[in-house]
Amino acid sequence: MNYKTALQHPIFSKISEAAASLQLDAYAIGGFVRDFILERGDAKDIDIVAIGSGIELAKKVASLLPNKPKVKVFKTYGTAMLRYQDIEIEFVGARKESYIENSRNPIVENGTLEDDQNRRDFTINAMAISLNQERYGDILDPFNGIDDLRNKIIKTPLNPDITYSDDPLRMLRAIRFATQLNFTIEAESLASISKNHQRITIITNERIVTELHKIMESEQPSKGFLLLEKTGLLKHILPELIALKGIEEIEGQRHKDNFYHTLEVLDNISNHTDNLWLRWAALLHDIGKAPTKKFHKTIGWTFHGHEFEGSKMVYKLFKRLKMPLNDKMKYVQKLVFMSSRPIALADYVTDSAVRRLVFDAGDFVDDLMTLCEADITTKNPKKFKKYHHNFQLVREKIEEVEARDHIRNFQPPISGEDIMTTFNLSPSREIGIIKERIKEAVLEGEIPNQYEAAYEMMLKEGEKLGLKVATKS
Ligand code: ATP
Repeated sequence: MNYKTALQHPIFSKISEAAASLQLDAYAIGGFVRDFILERGDAKDIDIVAIGSGIELAKKVASLLPNKPKVKVFKTYGTAMLRYQDIEIEFVGARKESYIENSRNPIVENGTLEDDQNRRDFTINAMAISLNQERYGDILDPFNGIDDLRNKIIKTPLNPDITYSDDPLRMLRAIRFATQLNFTIEAESLASISKNHQRITIITNERIVTELHKIMESEQPSKGFLLLEKTGLLKHILPELIALKGIEEIEGQRHKDNFYHTLEVLDNISNHTDNLWLRWAALLHDIGKAPTKKFHKTIGWTFHGHEFEGSKMVYKLFKRLKMPLNDKMKYVQKLVFMSSRPIALADYVTDSAVRRLVFDAGDFVDDLMTLCEADITTKNPKKFKKYHHNFQLVREKIEEVEARDHIRNFQPPISGEDIMTTFNLSPSREIGIIKERIKEAVLEGEIPNQYEAAYEMMLKEGEKLGLKVATKS
């Protein structure tokens, strides 16, 4: 079969020319070939394998290109990279790899194209298109990757037990591709992942998180999480989610299975946002329920304070996975912490409760509403409609209150400075008391969020505290 149409980008003829002048063979390989066949849009990364030195080939290619791009060389890996127009091209020499127990780092030797294809993770990632002048565009597909693409199958080129045990990251990659592409992991492979799950513990957290994020960014992330759970991988990565699994029953009272509920919430939110961190908030919004679960004879199951507990767990979880403890983490924490707040409004919406919600959530209020709407997983159509309708009212109220009172990113209409000058005070407790009273009055709707009204109130509150207005000299 000829795949010349995959090679329309001008870079390919240059690589072909460079390979010919160095008298070596070169192939486009891996994800580029797979995504071309799947018609997944224009490639941003292209992997080139050279039967010989990838670094030499990269340098030669760069010298043939009009703008002579810089070649980045990674000596330890024997790879080189260059950018041309809008794409990144990575060059590597064909390798043969052999693995030793307890390490992800193989012993690497130079190899043939076949050796290189054997070391690839999946049949659909092992196809190569020849860039050699006499066979330009020919596809080399020793493991029938094309058929597996057609049949939507994830399968390893060699014995799955060896492939997964050699590099356990591949277990996660299998689940990631199955989720991203909506493919099925072949039975033997799935069994092998279930057998080898323990080996994921030798993989660094950074690599795990990269794959996890790709799962979470898929159209239906629950597919990946169900596979992670089924194969035993999830307990090594996110034991907090496993702790949510199961339904307990005491004296005829049951609570819902918060694991499956969480996955439903994650899928729901993924229909409404591509924001990865909002998806994280959905995934973690109930994690505090496992440690706070209690049964009371009179009221049944409770999860008191699970939002606070959950937000503390977010920090620990991010830290353990070596994810950045930055504003993204704080955003997830805050959404988890506030995840039940709008629900209290769903029955009875008052202006002051909405002002408080907007005040506390600040810029996150819209995302918080999106999370709460995704959290509606009731199977009772009447309730489902009612809750959504009520949240719509809350959203409208937020806009109305916001247009009038500008509570988002609230700045007190009277500053500490104003209070000090008015009463001729040095920094003291009274200033805090007056400011707090004014803030409360704005949030309660007793006064508008405006300078004049707040000034009046400051005078009254000052008087109550026995303060005297300073005379202007
Ligand atoms: P994506 O761009 O969606 O991440 P990709 O397949 O291009 O997909 P890369 O991680 O860039 O992913 O890998 C490029 C190619 O390298 C893969 O197609 C595969 O052939 C090979 N590969 C990557 N990681 C592994 C691995 N852990 N084991 C074996 N082969 C791998």
